[in-house]
Amino acid sequence: MAKRDYYEILGISKSASADEIKKAYRRLAMKNHPDRNPDDEEAEAKFKEASEAYEVLSDDQKRAAYDQFGHQGVGGAAGGGAQPGAGGFEDIFGDIFSDIFGGGRGGGRSRAARGSDLRYDMELDLETAIAGDTEEVRIPTLEECEACNGDGAEPGSSVDTCDTCQGMGQVRIQQGFLSVQQACPDCQGRGKRVQNPCRKCSGEGRIRSSKTLSVRVPPGVDDGDRIRLSGEGEAGEQGGPPGDLYVQVNVKPHDLFERDGNDLRADVPVDMVTAALGGNIDVPTLNGKVNLRIPPETQTGRSFRLRGKGVQSVRTSSPGDLLCRVQVETPVNLNNEQKELLGQLRDSLDNSAKSHSPKINSWLDKAKRFFGERAG
Ligand SMILES: [Zn+2]
Ligand SMILES: [Zn+2]
Repeated sequence: MAKRDYYEILGISKSASADEIKKAYRRLAMKNHPDRNPDDEEAEAKFKEASEAYEVLSDDQKRAAYDQFGHQGVGGAAGGGAQPGAGGFEDIFGDIFSDIFGGGRGGGRSRAARGSDLRYDMELDLETAIAGDTEEVRIPTLEECEACNGDGAEPGSSVDTCDTCQGMGQVRIQQGFLSVQQACPDCQGRGKRVQNPCRKCSGEGRIRSSKTLSVRVPPGVDDGDRIRLSGEGEAGEQGGPPGDLYVQVNVKPHDLFERDGNDLRADVPVDMVTAALGGNIDVPTLNGKVNLRIPPETQTGRSFRLRGKGVQSVRTSSPGDLLCRVQVETPVNLNNEQKELLGQLRDSLDNSAKSHSPKINSWLDKAKRFFGERAG
């Protein structure tokens, strides 16, 4: 089975920007996420495929290597996924560059025994991200085979050191002037040879499964943060060390608050009369309602800072603030009496000094100058 082109997988052009790559990946990852498609192998495979494509294309160096050399350039085994038991999984993060420089063409890959790192996208609502929580996540992964304890040998059979490479996993070959080190062709870089491969895992030492983990989300995590769970990635090949799990935090938009670092921002509608005369209004904060005093003559766009009502993050000692931005609301659905009263108000304002609407007056002056200059 030939590997698909990474650009094709993400449905983007070769000239796609970093942002386009990210968007395409996010869309596919959300759609095919194992949490949303339980027990759907096809979705899981698509999720994995998109993640792999993203890991390469989102990294400038890897992307350049891929553009130049194709899958070989980024460590995809020739004929991809043909290894028994490997199930098409490739190391996404691990040792990609040692493959380019250390591995020879056609000589197989000097496959690191360490398991691949995994990435998990976690969607949180704003309150959870700010308060912190423990979230259960289910992750498709490769786990150590129980039958052979991960060494890939059928129980009772022996594991020998590879004669060709004396257990080093690497051999040197002379190519003209160059001495090139590459993965041992006899043991595929493992340094060991299994006489009877384990039947349960086909000698791979690990099997496909999924695991449920409790991920502690520290208080104050923000959109784009990554939580690393050491050793919770895929199991290593034939007893190698496991990879890590990276939990990528995506925070959903909130109805009331927008986060800006440790500050929160909120638009607060205020009625026209309160804005003019002043008054008190209740505004919601993360820990309950707070009374906000609106001074007389408050304009749209004015912000009031509620100190300490923002986010307390793990990185800083003091919490941020809540910034309430006033939006003055023009009254609607007026009855005749109310229209009459507003009419009286307008007459009263017109008949007194011009100082009631400084913004309008200054704007009119500017407009007049503008037309004056154009006429002259
Ligand atoms: Zn096994
Ligand atoms: Zn060998």
